[in-house]
Amino acid sequence: MAHTCIHWFRKGLRLHDNPALLAALQDCKEIYPVFVLDPHSPVNVNVGINRWRFLIGALKDLDCSLRKLNSRLFVVRGKPEEVFPKLFQEWKVTRLTYEYDTEPFSLCRDKDVVRLAEEHGVEVIFKVSHTLYNIERIIEENNGKAPLTFSRLQTLVKSIGPPRRPVPAPTSQDMKDIKTPCPEQYEQIYGMPKLEQLDQDPERLTVELFPGGEQEALLRLDQHMERKEWVCGFEKPQTSPNSLSPSTTVLSPYMTFGCLSARTFWWRLTDVYQGKKHSQPPVSLHGQLLWREFFYTAGVGIPNFNKMEGNPACTQVDWDSNPEYLAAWTQARTGFPFIDAIMTQLRQEGWIHHLARHAVACFLTRGDLWISWEEGQKVFEELLLDGDWSLNAGNWQWLSASTFFHQYFRVYSPIAFGKKTDKNGDYIKKYLPLLKKFPAQYIYEPWKAPRSVQEAAGCIVGKDYPRPIVDHEVISKKNIQRMKGAYAKRSPHSSKESPSMSKK
Ligand code: FAD
Repeated sequence: MAHTCIHWFRKGLRLHDNPALLAALQDCKEIYPVFVLDPHSPVNVNVGINRWRFLIGALKDLDCSLRKLNSRLFVVRGKPEEVFPKLFQEWKVTRLTYEYDTEPFSLCRDKDVVRLAEEHGVEVIFKVSHTLYNIERIIEENNGKAPLTFSRLQTLVKSIGPPRRPVPAPTSQDMKDIKTPCPEQYEQIYGMPKLEQLDQDPERLTVELFPGGEQEALLRLDQHMERKEWVCGFEKPQTSPNSLSPSTTVLSPYMTFGCLSARTFWWRLTDVYQGKKHSQPPVSLHGQLLWREFFYTAGVGIPNFNKMEGNPACTQVDWDSNPEYLAAWTQARTGFPFIDAIMTQLRQEGWIHHLARHAVACFLTRGDLWISWEEGQKVFEELLLDGDWSLNAGNWQWLSASTFFHQYFRVYSPIAFGKKTDKNGDYIKKYLPLLKKFPAQYIYEPWKAPRSVQEAAGCIVGKDYPRPIVDHEVISKKNIQRMKGAYAKRSPHSSKESPSMSKK
């Protein structure tokens, strides 16, 4: 029987390495590529404008690629469990395909849709292609538990073998006997969403540094892979959190939305490494992709992974509730220029370097403000283009020394850390132009500048720019003691291994 298929795009917004899409095209006469847009779903209500813009860009790009195959993308508005039964009937669907997701919310959603498909006699096929490995297989190999150390994950994936090679994108030849019937009112019903329809004000947008879409992802990947020496020498801790242009790949938003396949990225790196001396995990680019697997595995294997309570791997800490401090951190008003510059870059551009994330996450939690990592996680979820449920939760737990990383006595200084790679404070001057006339000597600590220097810089601390919200030297020592207390009460769940802070 020739099938009428819906391929449901969720993440996986690409044609390359999309095994579920290829499965849809087998014995198929009609294909409907569908994206279900549900801005009111609990996972979307917190999404900020930059991420919406990225998504719209990715959807437009996908539609453009599908058109070249004589097909179109149907953006269907509503809740999946409500729209699918209608579509199954209207289009006389016999098969539904999608890429497998691992987050609790997605699993719940998919369970409902699969049940509805069964009720409508629709065959369901899903494939694993968002991660390098089938995450559940890694957990099985580890006797049903998520590995809590990177070295354990490495051992497990070594025993499984290298990740599967990516599959090719469908071609016009693959599509020659397959139609996508497009209704006359396609644009009104299934056309691309606009920011206004998502309750976002386009006036608030700033420059788009990282446009969404598979074509952009593949272009960026190509550009990086041409830098063979850089790829082979890549060591994450040696990259800079405050360079004026990114010192790492910025492929993360493309990976989050699945515009770029992790396996494609992996095998392109393998090709570059071939026959050359190259860095190794955990610090290499292959290592970065394995960190992604690590946190995905933790997200699947650890209950309540995005929370402290009910999360058995997470140290229970008596974090303060301090809306004033939280607002100052979120709105870049802490009075520490390095922290405020990072939070400004995050809000404006939607991406910040990994070590910059370290600095602001440590500052918010165990370093200075003693606010729960869950609050930071929410702010990142809103502002990051690459906001990813497992990676965000996992890294916040790491930085707050709640899970995976236990050297809570190693605290980033909001003053000294940035100086290591940017003595002059050019990064601060870029994102906080108010401070740009401060001499390098005071740029990280403007409150220490004599009044005459502040006047000459045209910025008075306490009036034009805030005084530091806390005394870092004092508060960080106090917080280490509080952390010590939390550790003393800890049940011995976590790893024996305690990796160095910036090993990732
Ligand atoms: P590269 O260094 O070029 O690495 C290549 C790819 O490897 C990345 O695109 C990413 O997919 C993966 N990767 C790199 N570092 C990590 C890591 N530490 N953990 C897991 N995967 C990694 N990353 C997200 O994608 N989404 C998030 O929501 C997210 N939240 C974070 C929150 C905190 C508090 C911290 C400290 C880190 C977070 N990260 C998150 C991880 C990391 O900072 C970013 O993946 C990385 O900086 C993205 O930049 P890049 O693409 O240039 O990375």
